[in-house]
Amino acid sequence: FAHRTDPLRESIFTTISNRARELGAVNLGQGFPDFDGPQWLVEAARASLGGEGLANQYAHTSGAPALRAAIARQQREDWAAEFDPDSEITVTVGATEALYATLQTLVDAGDEVVVFEPFYDSYVATLQMIGAVPRPVTLRWPSFGFDDGELARAFGPRTKAVMINSPHNPTGKVFSREELERIGALAIRHDCWIVTDEVYEYLTYERSHREFVQWRSQPAIRERCIAISSAGKTFGMTGWKVGWAMAPADVSRRLRLVHQFIPFCAPHPFQHAFAHALERRHEYLEDFRREYRHRRDLLAEGLRALGHAVLPSEGTYFLQVYVEEGTEAFCRRLLERHRVAVLPTAPFYLDAASQGANIVRLCFAKREETLREALRRLGE
Ligand code: PMP
Ligand code: GLN
Repeated sequence: FAHRTDPLRESIFTTISNRARELGAVNLGQGFPDFDGPQWLVEAARASLGGEGLANQYAHTSGAPALRAAIARQQREDWAAEFDPDSEITVTVGATEALYATLQTLVDAGDEVVVFEPFYDSYVATLQMIGAVPRPVTLRWPSFGFDDGELARAFGPRTKAVMINSPHNPTGKVFSREELERIGALAIRHDCWIVTDEVYEYLTYERSHREFVQWRSQPAIRERCIAISSAGKTFGMTGWKVGWAMAPADVSRRLRLVHQFIPFCAPHPFQHAFAHALERRHEYLEDFRREYRHRRDLLAEGLRALGHAVLPSEGTYFLQVYVEEGTEAFCRRLLERHRVAVLPTAPFYLDAASQGANIVRLCFAKREETLREALRRLGE
């Protein structure tokens, strides 16, 4: 096999979901809802399968025009950010492909990329396949802030890019404007790219995502920023795999060349369905956020009542628990004795023996009865 595939391992999401299925456990490990997105969106997808628009054939390689237009409108109306749908927005197979295509576009073998750890697992796997070097900056519990000196030392002459995920999986952290300014100043000083992963843009509970977008919209940031998001979390349809990358025209032009030779285009019917969903988002998002906040509070309070050290989560659909005994024994006990699957976070750190050895992640994108059943089992 190609040597670049040697470091790859089975994703922890797959491992935990398989174990959960085998043992009949309530699965709070892998991040996906155990309920469908809105019924009207299922109807929209159905309609696009049978419509006149040839949605069952290849889409435009850069994305269906209707979806790119809807994303441009969403960025303008919700976050006051301007992107030209024709030249600056590229639709991809989920955020995962957007991240992969972006890093393939920007980063050479031997280049360094600054990542905040814990990181979403595809970042480092993608860098490994490119032969690039991840330079971690650790978000340290309990507040998940980072050290200025550590951040400055992570940047150097070989730095090609810095990746920022906010709201952040798995910590639930929302980066503050002040933190973003510190990162942006270093990116400008080292003249490197900024890749933002904003897939949880609508899942913030205390603070709007607008602040983040205001930061990345400043001219000195915007010109070096590739902003990535997807529709899977927002509309509760993670299996539909439609995402996008937004970047200045010259970057998008090169990114599109890469994207056309990975999938060529994203699934066409779902692009039309999500275009429709984005147009209807106003009537949906308020309830969506309120329900997720309720789920977060239900799970956090239930876990605290059972004596667990729940760490605060201000965004995403995850929360974390600090585990004194170490996550290996803890996860095994929960799975085998209580039949509840949770996620160890060590795979999200370069050094598995680091902070991740004491932190587990739980997904609260679940029906209320699922969360209550998990809490009941944990209390047994
Ligand atoms: N980035 C982060 C931080 C994620 O949590 C996820 C999915 N859970 C993705 C990217 C991938 O998104 P998609 O399913 O749209 O590929
Ligand atoms: N993003 C989801 C999580 O963090 C899972 C995505 C996947 O399974 N690849 O759990």
